[in-house]
Amino acid sequence: MAPRDNIVELPPQASRIGGAWVTGSAWIDVNDPATGAIIGRVPNLGAEETERAVTAATGAMPAWAARTAAERADILRAWHALVLSKRTWLARLLTLEQGKPIVEAEAEIDYAAAYILWFAEEARRVYGEIIPAPTGDTRILVLRQPVGVVGAITPWNFPAAMITRKLAPAVAAGCGVVLKPAIETPFTAIALIDLAEQAGIPAGLLNLVTGDAEPIGAVLTTDPRVRKISFTGSTAVGARLFAQSASTMKRLGLELGGNAPFVVFEDADLDAAVTGAIQAKFRNAGQTCVCADRFYIQQSIYPAFIERFAAAMAHLRSGSGFAPGVTIGPVIHERALTRLEKLIEEAMQSGARLLCGGTRSKGAGTFLEPTLLCDVDHSMRIVSDEVFGPIAAVMPFADEAEVIERCNASEAGLAAYFYARDHARIWRVAEAIEAGMIGVNTGRISTEVAPFGGVKSSGIGREGSRHGIEAFCELKYVCLDIGSGEKAA
Ligand code: ADP
Repeated sequence: MAPRDNIVELPPQASRIGGAWVTGSAWIDVNDPATGAIIGRVPNLGAEETERAVTAATGAMPAWAARTAAERADILRAWHALVLSKRTWLARLLTLEQGKPIVEAEAEIDYAAAYILWFAEEARRVYGEIIPAPTGDTRILVLRQPVGVVGAITPWNFPAAMITRKLAPAVAAGCGVVLKPAIETPFTAIALIDLAEQAGIPAGLLNLVTGDAEPIGAVLTTDPRVRKISFTGSTAVGARLFAQSASTMKRLGLELGGNAPFVVFEDADLDAAVTGAIQAKFRNAGQTCVCADRFYIQQSIYPAFIERFAAAMAHLRSGSGFAPGVTIGPVIHERALTRLEKLIEEAMQSGARLLCGGTRSKGAGTFLEPTLLCDVDHSMRIVSDEVFGPIAAVMPFADEAEVIERCNASEAGLAAYFYARDHARIWRVAEAIEAGMIGVNTGRISTEVAPFGGVKSSGIGREGSRHGIEAFCELKYVCLDIGSGEKAA
């Protein structure tokens, strides 16, 4: 019999510090955004427990770093296998607390597991170097060593993948970690940490602290034993963590907000562009940092694109992520929904045309109907702000130079997408757009094998790919004087 909706076994409702489950006297409720119902609770811990977690990670790290790369890789592979063996449960847990359709949740578990496997493989390739020395009696060696204890802070939109993308390379490199997951989605995080320990990651190496962001973040950014902050979330919070980390000179990996342009040139395959637009806009109900936010359509195909896009949007179905056939889940909470409604209202007051959606769904849960606004412009917040919801905002453009200028007229520079057939144009535009990731004739760009990250205000550093482990390594150069060359007797 298929498991019933909304009945999902929870992992322990506790934080994990030094290999022990930890609760407290205060609690934070966790909701199902599709119904508004409370599904469980986690302890509201603070500075003191975070310091204990840093102590645990600091204590566990040296023995872990001293293991061979092959041993670390084997344990990561065991974690990968355990995650996949629990795929159905983890995906249901994820849908319960986050809301995304179950098919997307399963895809996220696969994606999250892929990072663990990838960094299990990379663990064995943290090579050093020997550099030709400037004098005959010296040798110059470069070691790559673990950066130190990592403070990882993750968002609610990818409750599994954003965690493994940080923790797997940290563990592969030999680091200890204190994780603060988003309070909206702590259960997927708790389940993943539990599975990591079951796979053989030593107690205390990975710690998880639930609670108010500020006191936990304050310890992670100021405790000198934490050497690196790895954060995914909003640009405002990222900038704050950057400032807080300054006095202890921490290394920073920041994956921040985007405001991705999606450009369709008149030589594009229009049907492919519509398919890509649906993928790039509506995954996770528009709540990803690489979601297409601003659609620029070349003037001559503007009416045709809008007509086909609206027709494709009519096939989207919003509802509980557990219901078969649903493609759009709820937005994360009432605050997010109210903000989206305000963006729509403001745009319409400034002259945008509403072609579909625009309203919240009736009943419990925080659903916004997939919304299409056209004739928007750059004076509207629906264009200049990161949307983070199921609203597509569309406008026409005249030529290539104009659209490149408009794409780059944003402080954000995470992802960008464009559709074109002309090869010279493809190169020109891909090189000219200021973004860390470009989808050309595709609306899907996320994969563990490629470097994920942004330019300008969208962040610092890259995650995933062979570059992803660099963020958790520090270079050490050893200068060795081997003497004047007298031969041993
Ligand atoms: P969103 O608006 O999408 O929730 P945030 O940037 O607010 O994005 O949240 C991303 C993560 O950062 C979450 O885990 C959140 O709890 C955490 N966070 C928010 N404010 C702070 C802070 N002052 N210090 C540390 N972490 C924070």
